[in-house]
Amino acid sequence: MSQTKKGLNTLCTHEGALEDTLFKGATSPLYMSSSYAFEDVDLKRYPRYFNTPNQEALGKKLAALEHAETAMIFGSGMAAISTALMAFLKAGDHVVFQQTLYGGTYNFAVTQLEKYGITYTFTEGWDVVDFEEVIQSNTKVIYLETPSNPLLTITDMKGVANLAKEKGIFTLIDNTFASPINQNPIDFGIDVVMHSATKYMGGHSDICAGVVASSKENMDRIYQTAICFGGSLSDYTVWLLERSIKTMALRVKAQNENALLMAKYLVSNPDVAAVNYPGLETHPEHELAKSQMKGFGGMLSFELKSEIDVSHFFRNLRLIKPSMSLAGLESTMISPAKTSHALMSPEDREKQGIKDSLVRFSLGIEELEDLIGDIEQAISETKSVSLPV
Ligand SMILES: *Cc1c(COP(=O)(O)O)cnc(C)c1O
Repeated sequence: MSQTKKGLNTLCTHEGALEDTLFKGATSPLYMSSSYAFEDVDLKRYPRYFNTPNQEALGKKLAALEHAETAMIFGSGMAAISTALMAFLKAGDHVVFQQTLYGGTYNFAVTQLEKYGITYTFTEGWDVVDFEEVIQSNTKVIYLETPSNPLLTITDMKGVANLAKEKGIFTLIDNTFASPINQNPIDFGIDVVMHSATKYMGGHSDICAGVVASSKENMDRIYQTAICFGGSLSDYTVWLLERSIKTMALRVKAQNENALLMAKYLVSNPDVAAVNYPGLETHPEHELAKSQMKGFGGMLSFELKSEIDVSHFFRNLRLIKPSMSLAGLESTMISPAKTSHALMSPEDREKQGIKDSLVRFSLGIEELEDLIGDIEQAISETKSVSLPV
């Protein structure tokens, strides 16, 4: 193939694909072997060494999509995140975490790091100064997430990356919500990009996987930790993930479009009190989002007016599923106050802006009018039963 820069759908479909030299099949052959004859002393293929033919092939596709030199596939998003973090940390080091963080990552920080003698601070907000304020002389890693869950705040990637570079600190970002279709943090100077591939990369709610993408130099370090922790992914799932990623740009673009139109519709709905979506001009960081994202993503959140009970509203939905996970082809909703942020006190939730009436909405690929119809019938059903008879 020519060396000219290829388009997104071309990369998703072809990059890294293995050639079926035996039968000329259209898809990458699946190699399930856990044992390979030595090719030479340096190359010993083994699943936990992250170098089976299918692991390497998918790694090439992911590196191309994230504009990284190299990428590795893990058994889950948390395997990728915990391995990458531990690769850059040792006893005595300090980490700065963005305040709004995926629940599993928050849990990893507060339950695991102390055991290794690693300290951490959560920022007060998501502006560059919020990160700057909590940096210590022993800070080794700054960890960020943008857009954030569930309020869809936007962090200035270039601003944080520049701040970190000045001080010799590594930046790690969870790019799950955006997907590589909408955002490529490496272009803004971020060092390490991580994904829960369980979400947009898998896209069909049937795969659990994770990804780390970075420079070869950083990845050498991550690799040494990764082979010890052993969080590699089975080749069968690697193969399925390659199949899913072929349609990722198509899916994510449809989800972006649904989310933007849904956000605009919800703003106009009199039973909705607030809508959080970086694609809305009224979003406080809309201009920043425009400058660092290619699409605004398929996730949004909104508040129902207080007279509409969220649990009743969920029970009345017929098409949209109340569900913990996100980014599938099917639209899903959850109440962060009752799930991901349930352990937080109501006061702390209120401080972060996570009200009981907040709904997180993962847009699928269904027709917009069907989704709007479902929301309208669920709201009117919820209102009719709460009216005194
Ligand atoms: C789901 C998720 C994770 C964790 O991924 P798993 O595949 O469940 O381990 C990490 N970050 C974000 C933003 C997620 O949505």
